[in-house]
Amino acid sequence: MEFQIFSKYPRLKYGLSQKADGPMKLGIMGSEANRSRFFEAVGADKVASAEICHGRSAPRANLADAGKIIARADGLVTSARNLFLSVTVADCFPVYFFDAPSQTVGLAHAGWRGIAAGIITGIIKTMAVDPKNILCGIGPGIRQDHFEIKGDVAAVFGGYSDNISNRQGKIFLDLPEVITKQLLAAGLQSANIEAAEECTYCEAGKYFSYRRDHPEQMQAMAAYIGLTG
Ligand SMILES: [Zn+2]
Repeated sequence: MEFQIFSKYPRLKYGLSQKADGPMKLGIMGSEANRSRFFEAVGADKVASAEICHGRSAPRANLADAGKIIARADGLVTSARNLFLSVTVADCFPVYFFDAPSQTVGLAHAGWRGIAAGIITGIIKTMAVDPKNILCGIGPGIRQDHFEIKGDVAAVFGGYSDNISNRQGKIFLDLPEVITKQLLAAGLQSANIEAAEECTYCEAGKYFSYRRDHPEQMQAMAAYIGLTG
């Protein structure tokens, strides 16, 4: 997974683990070893991880947070060099943020609950920079064709009726489009927003998908971003 918008910045390191790297969800059996192996392989020595609770909290992290799990956070922001931020996802979208002038990075776990709660604006507020300069990459997640919702969730997204479709009596929601609308409303420029095309539900060999697999134990990927140098 690569974003063109980030390609000019060789010190910006970001990515997403794959199924072959193993389950990364914090606190499940085996995940600690998988996470250590994965982060070491990508050169992320110091990692601050968001706990993940489908809310909007996105605090700032610093080097003292390396190795820690930040409670009640679904996003993190840092300007510290060589500190990597991490969230876990499995159908929810990892959303990567970078502001070049201030050398600030951010990372959000964005599922429908967090998006409705305001995780996208939460990250942008914590970054506290001119949103015109923020670059944003929306990673792989469950895309509209596979994201069926019920009427209660559709009601939560009533302001996004253009992004809700009906097919054979079922309702589907286009979360990357909702995220994009929220980014634009927060002042980002459309040329600075890029969405990965991959759907976690479709890419069965590559990604875990909660909706597809319904595992007894959550099997998530780890997303990360950081600035080296
Ligand atoms: Zn799909």
